[in-house]
Amino acid sequence: MKHFLWRTLFIAVVFFCCGCGRGDFGVQGSEEEPKTYAGQSGEEVWQSVDTAMGTVVQQTVYASEEAAKRFFEEAGQLLQETEQEELSWRLETSQVYQINASAGRKEGFRITEEMASLLEACVELHERSQGAFDVTLGPLTRLWKIDQWAAGGEEDVFSIPSGEEVEQALALCGSDRLRILRTDAGEPCLFLPEGMLLDLGAVGKGLAQARLYPLLEKEADIMGAVISLGGSILTYGRKADGSNWKVGIVNPFDTSSNVGILSLEGNWCVSTSGDYERYVETDGVRYHHILDPETGCPAMGEVRGVTILTKDGLLGDGLSTACFILGPDQGMKLAAEYGAEVLFVMSDGEIRMSEGMRTCFMETL
Ligand code: AMP
Ligand code: MG
Repeated sequence: MKHFLWRTLFIAVVFFCCGCGRGDFGVQGSEEEPKTYAGQSGEEVWQSVDTAMGTVVQQTVYASEEAAKRFFEEAGQLLQETEQEELSWRLETSQVYQINASAGRKEGFRITEEMASLLEACVELHERSQGAFDVTLGPLTRLWKIDQWAAGGEEDVFSIPSGEEVEQALALCGSDRLRILRTDAGEPCLFLPEGMLLDLGAVGKGLAQARLYPLLEKEADIMGAVISLGGSILTYGRKADGSNWKVGIVNPFDTSSNVGILSLEGNWCVSTSGDYERYVETDGVRYHHILDPETGCPAMGEVRGVTILTKDGLLGDGLSTACFILGPDQGMKLAAEYGAEVLFVMSDGEIRMSEGMRTCFMETL
C-alpha cells in the first residue's frame, strides 16, 4: 500500500473485449483522478488505469479478483520503484541521478548488477546501431528540454538551441566512452566521463515490461493480461474466450486511429517510437523527442513511427528508438540481427514491415 493508493471506488464496467493502442481502451479516470480501477465481481476481466514513469499505464487482466488486485498493487509498486530508485534523472534517490552526479569521478561509481547489465545491453545496441542509439545523450536531451514538452508541445518552454550549444552538448556524449569495470570483489563500477549524463528514457518502459512478466507468472490465477505503458504494450497468456490479443499501431497522421492491428497469441512486447509522442511544432517544423546523435537534433528522416515486436521488452524499446533514427533499410537489418520484427510508417504514408510482422498484421486504414 505504501506506493499504490487504492481508491475505494469500484466502477461496474465489464470489458468484453480487450484491444489496445489508442482508441481501443476505455480509459477510466482523468488527470485529477488518475488512480482508478474497474471490474465486476464474478467477471473475469479487471482493469486499472494509473500514471507511472511519466505515462499512462493501462492494465487489463483476466484473473480472479484477488489475483488481479494483488497484481495491480505489486505492478504499481514495481513501476514506482523502477522510476524512483533506478531510472529518474531528476530524483536524488535514483541510481541514474547518482551516476550523473558522479561524472568525472576518478574512482567511478558502484552500480547494481541490474544497472550494469542494462547499460551493457545499451552499449551493445549503440555499437550495433552504428551509434544511432545512445543513452549518454543526457546533455542534449536537457538542452532541448525534451522532458518538459508534453505530447503536443509546450511552446512556452521551447527554444531552438544554437548550433554552438548543440556542438558543445554533443561533445559530451558518446556511449563508447562509458566504462564498466569490476572491483577486486567483483562489484560493477561505472566510470562516466566529466560532463556526460545518462538518459535512459529510450529503454525505461521496456525494462519495466520485462520486469512485469515475473509478477504475472507468479500469479497462478492470472490467465492473461495486456498492459500498456505509453507506447509500449505487453501481452501475456490468453483471454477467457481464447481469441488473440489485438494490439493497435497508432497512425502518426491521425493519432486517434490505427494504421493496423497486430493479432498476437501468448506473450509479446510491442514497442513504438513516433514523432507524435512528444513534440513541439514551430514555423511548420516538428521538433520531436528522438535525437539523431550525428546532428544533435531531432531525427529528420522519412520515418514517422516504428513498431517493434519482440519477446524482450527492453530490447524492443531500445530497437524502436534506434530504428527510428536508422530508417527502414538499416533498421530492418538491425531488427533481424536481434531476431525482432519491425514495422515502419513513412512520412509519405507507406508502411514497410518485416516478413514476420506481416503474418500478424491486419490493416485498418
Ligand atoms: P522512445 O520514445 O522509446 O523512442 O525514447 C525516446 C526517449 O529516449 C527521449 O525522450 C530521450 O529521453 C531519449 N532519446 C532520444 N534520442 C535518443 C537516442 N538517439 N538514443 C537513445 N535515447 C534517446
Ligand atoms: Mg524506445
